[in-house]
Amino acid sequence: MSDPSNYGFDTLQIHAGARPDPATGARQTPIYQTTAYVFRDAEHAAALFNLQEVGYIYSRLTNPTVAVLQERIATLEGGVGAVCCSSGHAAQIMALFPLMQPGCNIIASTRLYGGTVTQFSQTIKRFGWSAKFVDMDDLDAVKAAVDDNTRAIFGEAIANPGGHIMDVRAVADIADEAGIPLIIDNTTATPYLCRPIELGATLVVHSTTKYLTGNGTVTGGCVVDSGKFDWTASDKFPSLSQPEPAYHGLKFAETFGPLAFTFHGIAIGLRDLGMTMNPQAAHYTLMGIETLSLRMERHVSNAEKIAEWLENDPRIETVTYAGLKSSPYNALAKKVCPKGASGLFTFAVKGGYDACIKLVDSLEIFSHVANLGDTRSLIIHSASTTHRQLTEEQQKAAGAAPNMVRVSIGTENVEDLIADLDQALSKATA
Ligand SMILES: *Cc1c(COP(=O)(O)O)cnc(C)c1O
Repeated sequence: MSDPSNYGFDTLQIHAGARPDPATGARQTPIYQTTAYVFRDAEHAAALFNLQEVGYIYSRLTNPTVAVLQERIATLEGGVGAVCCSSGHAAQIMALFPLMQPGCNIIASTRLYGGTVTQFSQTIKRFGWSAKFVDMDDLDAVKAAVDDNTRAIFGEAIANPGGHIMDVRAVADIADEAGIPLIIDNTTATPYLCRPIELGATLVVHSTTKYLTGNGTVTGGCVVDSGKFDWTASDKFPSLSQPEPAYHGLKFAETFGPLAFTFHGIAIGLRDLGMTMNPQAAHYTLMGIETLSLRMERHVSNAEKIAEWLENDPRIETVTYAGLKSSPYNALAKKVCPKGASGLFTFAVKGGYDACIKLVDSLEIFSHVANLGDTRSLIIHSASTTHRQLTEEQQKAAGAAPNMVRVSIGTENVEDLIADLDQALSKATA
């Protein structure tokens, strides 16, 4: 297709990045189930290895099926390029890798997916990196936390599981002033509901496992680059601005301009870390992404109705859905994600931990699983599962207190979902 800016989201989610297969005319993107690609001749091979010519060498680096998905997601997010990875957590490491050196830190939101809190508070320390966790509602605290070794600010547009909304534009201004990128995890919101790059983010990461695939079949991740950050403006990002010894002195920023981050992600990140998405996974995600906007509209309308029903139910203490008028994040949600606050939220059940466990066990349509963004409605008691590794204080900060459950509202008939919650709540609070 020609210039994507001529087309609407519903068209791009089907067509961006894809063209009829040049070999066969196949209309659907084939699964290029191959490890390697035959070079035309030795000269061609040398040009590819020198990054003088773009093409396929080996599927740890690039694969035609994965490449279509990369272009599709980059287009939907309004970025210049994207690198797909084996999972959302891989994408987070791939986003940080070009920015960080031992001794560097990131500022991370206190309200992040529990697995990300663990990755940032524990695992990245082994690389000599660290994270300072800050409440992103407190912009002065965010500003104050930035120091000379800070290389990025990281937050979720709509936080999993608490549904808190981050003021992406305000935090982007702080990152701009500090000369560092803002990285937004847009997994819960999706590019249909939130456009972090338009709000000033430099990089967007996704767990494509969730809404982008949309049917709970494969894990995957993606890092999208806005192409707008000047990596040479300071000496903070030598991997991108300085000669790369593992590529005989190539300077990524000078050679690839706005595509520097994406090329580094493939040529160094995937080459040496190997967290590659496989073509089967890319295929499932391409199938799912074709209906992203249609599904998100239903996820949002079902979630709005269910959140409202729960809020008025005497068995429920609180509902933290930013789409509710009563939410302290409702006004911000209208700015950050004007088409809706996604299908994910938490609620507190009277009767605490035990009632939550009983509720989860009594539901018939909702599945008790550690996933979100499926067409199926899902529920999990975060404190005893995904957020189990956190202290009770961290659990509360992340919106995963012991008396709360997280629901990912699916696209089923909303009356059926409400009836299921109703019967299970009766058992849980009897
Ligand atoms: C699931 C999730 C991740 C991690 O993604 P995986 O694909 O499970 O590795 C990161 N961020 C958010 C917001 C998530 O929901």
